[in-house]
Parts: sequence; C-alpha cells; structure tokens
Amino acid sequence: MKVGEQMNNFEKYGNVVWMDGVFIKPEEAHIPIFSHALHYASSWFEGIRTYQTAHGTAILMLDEHTQRMFDSPALHKRDFSQHFSFTEIRNAIIDVVKMNKLGNGYVRPLMYLGMNWNALMPNHTIEYHASIATWELTSLFTTSVSACISKRPRISNDAIPMQSKCAANYANSMLIKAEAIEAGFDDGIALDIHGNISETSASNLFMVKDGKLFTPSLDCSILNGFTRQLVIKIARELHHIEVVECHIKPEQLKHADEIFMTGSATGIVSVTTLDNDVISTKTPVSTQLMETYNEITSGNHHWSSQLLTYI
Ligand code: PMP
Repeated sequence: MKVGEQMNNFEKYGNVVWMDGVFIKPEEAHIPIFSHALHYASSWFEGIRTYQTAHGTAILMLDEHTQRMFDSPALHKRDFSQHFSFTEIRNAIIDVVKMNKLGNGYVRPLMYLGMNWNALMPNHTIEYHASIATWELTSLFTTSVSACISKRPRISNDAIPMQSKCAANYANSMLIKAEAIEAGFDDGIALDIHGNISETSASNLFMVKDGKLFTPSLDCSILNGFTRQLVIKIARELHHIEVVECHIKPEQLKHADEIFMTGSATGIVSVTTLDNDVISTKTPVSTQLMETYNEITSGNHHWSSQLLTYI
C-alpha cells in the first residue's frame, strides 16, 4: 500500500493502535472534536520505516526518531516528556510493530494537544496525548520521479521552526504537492524565501555535479532529515564522495548530473526530470548510494546493526 491509498481500510493498519498507553483497534481510535490539535494544528509526528529482513522485522533509526518525537513539540515549547517517557514511547513502537506483525511498513507516532483550553494559547490544564499507528508500506514512490520547481516558497524557519515535524508545516507541504500533481509532476521542489533550493513537499534533496554531492544547507528552511544525514555519512565515509552543504539556485539544479530525494518513507529516489527537462538517464552516483542504503536497511551491511532495531 502507498501512503494515502485506502487510508480508511482499517485492515491495512494492523490490529492495534496505541493511544495513551492502551492498545485499541484502529477503528476505535478517535479524538474529540474539541481537541486543540484539530483547531490549531498543535500536533507533531514521526515517520519511521520498518523493513523485512532475513533476521526478522527491523526498525530503522528507532532511537533517533523517538528522540525527535519529543524534540519537535519542545521546539514549540510543549514538553511531552512530563507526560510520556522516551522508553515508554520506544517500547510502545516496538510493541505495535510486533502486534501488527508488520514487515515492510511505516510507523506513525503522534503527539498532540487535546481538550481543556479556552484560547489559542493552551493553558496548563490542556491534555497531552500520544498515539502510535502503523501501516504496510513497501515504497512510497517508484524508483524515479518527475518534479517541478514550486511557485510557492517553503515556510521560513524564522516563522516556524523547520526542525520540528509539526503538522502545521504540512499545510505548506500539501500545497506544494498539490500544485505539482495538478501540473502533472510527481512532486514539487520548494525554494526558501531567498530563492535557494529548499526541499520537496516532504523529502530532502541532493544533486550530483562532477562527481560531488551538493545538498541545501540547514539555513535553507529544510528539515535535517535522518535519511539526509545517513546519505551524507554513506557518501563521505563509505564512498569517499565529497559532500557540500550550501545554497543551491534553481539554475544550478537544472544543470545537475543527477538529482535525488531522501526521506524515511521515500528512501532514496531519483528525480529524472525537472520542469519537463531531462536531468539524467543514467544515475551512477545515486545508484551507488541507493545500493548501500538498501544493504543497510536489509540487514546486510556492517553498519546495519547500529542502525536497525530487530524485533
Ligand atoms: N523534509 C520534510 C519536510 C519531511 O517531512 C521529511 C520526512 N520526515 C524529510 C524532509 C525527510 O526526513 P527523514 O529522512 O528524517 O524522514
């Protein structure tokens, strides 16, 4: 199943969802209409991949994702660690993956503000909630996609902290994606407010030029994705490829030898056309990185044990 398809087909979610410490059926996982999150997008989430390996199901970068689950609301001054511990959330993720017998799949932890508020700024009586759901996922995209440069800029990091996976950020992402789909592309690449390449609707972006790897630096309103960080490490340490984090202009991207995007759900996916211009028919550097990434996530690499949690 692809994300977005059959989202009301509860069988795809497995048997259980974890909500505030209790395992319940997905079709019974409801939130009240007066939840603050529903009115003001005060919810934060994670997107974690599970892989079917020869040693059983493995969760990729579980500790990093669990930590970011707490860091995201903290950037909005919401301390969920007063209500849920790191270990509780980490264990609950493992339990839900196990109980749902997930192989190749996706885990969606969510933290959100609930009832007991009477103004935009939630007071101390507000409820803090958390949930964990899963669904089956093999790959989000095919191995290569078409993209366009979006007319709509990425939200400025000065307006909303972009290192936070706050649902509010995804209003911008949805508009970028919708604009691209309507124009016949698979995804849109947003610029930051200064005209530098930022990221796609929900993935980081890389380009290859003359054997070097270039990716937008953290001041380009990007999320410093874990896949981005891992790809940089793979490139530098395993393939001895020079990686430059910098400002990239759309004209430079258009003249790239290869372009690819990265993300937990996305994996590593080639962008072979940009605004209908062919970027590449051959993608040797991207392919090399994809192969190593696949080896790691399938448990067949000497880095696998430090990145995968087998359940
Ligand atoms: N940017 C955005 C806006 C995203 O939503 C994601 C997906 N979490 C990414 C980049 C990639 O991040 P990661 O590699 O940590 O999944």
